[in-house]
Amino acid sequence: MFSSDDTIVALATPRGRGGLGVVRLSGVQAQEVAQALLGRATALEARRATVTTLMDGVGGRRRAIDEVVATLFPSPGSYTGEDVVEVSAHGSPVLLDRIVALAVAAGARLAEPGEFTFRAFLHGRLDLVQAEAVADLIEAVTPRQARVAFDQLEGTMTARIAALDEQLFDLMMRLEASLDFPEEGYHFITPAEVAEGIAVVRGKIEETLAEASQGRLVREGCQVVILGTPNVGKSSIFNALLGSSRSIVAGQPGTTRDLVTERLDVDGLAVTLVDSAGLRPATDLVEEEGVARARGAVGVASVALVVLDRSRAWSEAELQALREADEVPRVVAVNKVDLPAAWQPREFEGLDGLVVVEVSAATGEGLVRLRSALLQELGGGGPLRDSPAVANRRHAGLLEQAAAALGAAERSVAQGAAEEFVLADMARARTTFEELTGSRTPDQVLEQIFERFCIGK
Ligand code: GDP
Repeated sequence: MFSSDDTIVALATPRGRGGLGVVRLSGVQAQEVAQALLGRATALEARRATVTTLMDGVGGRRRAIDEVVATLFPSPGSYTGEDVVEVSAHGSPVLLDRIVALAVAAGARLAEPGEFTFRAFLHGRLDLVQAEAVADLIEAVTPRQARVAFDQLEGTMTARIAALDEQLFDLMMRLEASLDFPEEGYHFITPAEVAEGIAVVRGKIEETLAEASQGRLVREGCQVVILGTPNVGKSSIFNALLGSSRSIVAGQPGTTRDLVTERLDVDGLAVTLVDSAGLRPATDLVEEEGVARARGAVGVASVALVVLDRSRAWSEAELQALREADEVPRVVAVNKVDLPAAWQPREFEGLDGLVVVEVSAATGEGLVRLRSALLQELGGGGPLRDSPAVANRRHAGLLEQAAAALGAAERSVAQGAAEEFVLADMARARTTFEELTGSRTPDQVLEQIFERFCIGK
């Protein structure tokens, strides 16, 4: 992967114009490189922001190009664990590019994406879960996502894993002691106690996993697809929902037969709303394409929002729309309640057992209730917790492996298998913990994780 014996440099702030731009250096030569760039004879003092000039050119042609603030964070107490120098200059792209180029000329190397955080991981400043949290925090698009990522960064998950690992380690030590001193005729731990201890740890892993689907929802966002027959008010509801929330990304325009998608923040969840042409029988080729796309959207949706028109008599087509989406949780919006009713939801046989909200896209009535109904369904029926411990597929996958290994250990104990077998299963569980926190993670996995970062992180 990355080499770590040289000194790296990169712009730490986004490219573009701003009040300030920060260039960061990290490595054994960071102080030396900074010294070559700065217009002061004395070395930087540790952890003291120093106003100085930044110099370009050599010898007699050397001149200041900006006034900057430079700060030295000496090893090992810096972000990366190495000597770090941060130079805050004015936020001009040409100036900042020049500073980076000067640092390279003075012996630094351009950092690869994620390399600063990788070095922090390498030097034990962060474990792998925390390094991943840095990327999540930077990429968060809703405040809730940011909060969950920060929790990971604070080490919530790390602490949980460490506690479980310790319990397993303790059980294994006692079991091994029983193996090592069989002639004493004394068991340091009885098989029943081993089984019980393992079950406790497995129970805790499963609890954590139970929160995982919610955590993933927060971290990865989710998709709500809007379905219904033509003219029931799908587009109107889509727009009304957008109107009452903050749109995160501008929508991709499409025709009515296309899928129009828009991302919004529904109480901290990044929800992608997909307004579809509906799943009606297609009458021409273009429409067929629209319907096919809508089917695809239902396939990946977390929730389908089925819209019905209360002002018009319903037909087989409405029932069909409801049935088409029955593989995902459904919320039914009974629309146009501002108009005289042609039917009542209780008369609609297809609605039994579904969440039904009466709304009017025209007047806004019921939209708040519709949003909270959607949120309820997205959150798996329960309220969303603020800090789910597992939000990441990699973490959930490894925890599942750990739970499976412990399940096998429990079965071995129950079947009276030799201690060695039980110990091997327990050791497998501990290996997955190590992979999770990064103390033993294949390089290839590390590469995948740090690839997600951008340069300067
Ligand atoms: P879509 O084909 O399902 O996307 O339906 P539209 O959103 O285009 O709406 C069809 C028609 O119904 C439009 O003329 C809307 O103005 C009207 N409409 C939508 N929602 C309401 C509502 O709540 N009340 C009333 N009175 N009209 C509505």
